[in-house]
Amino acid sequence: MLYINCPHCGMRSQNEFSYGGDASVKRPELGKEVSDQEWNNFVYNRKSLRGKHWELWQHLFGCRQWIKVERDTATHEIFSTLKANEEIS
Ligand SMILES: [Zn+2]
Repeated sequence: MLYINCPHCGMRSQNEFSYGGDASVKRPELGKEVSDQEWNNFVYNRKSLRGKHWELWQHLFGCRQWIKVERDTATHEIFSTLKANEEIS
């Protein structure tokens, strides 16, 4: 079983969390003209990387906050977590 260190609550079982997708996807800037292809990429297209990358998770059965989790998709090892508004370094 995986354990995720929620920045708000501390170490909790993965059963309390819901996966929310790739945290590296950036929403197109507000008011900027966006092509259909750019919007399509933002909404639908993901790289499905193998290895270490940042994901969004929601602590659904806890504080209900969205957090960023650095996880290896091959080994499921979790390296670090951040609050949703914290920048990935
Ligand atoms: Zn929490």
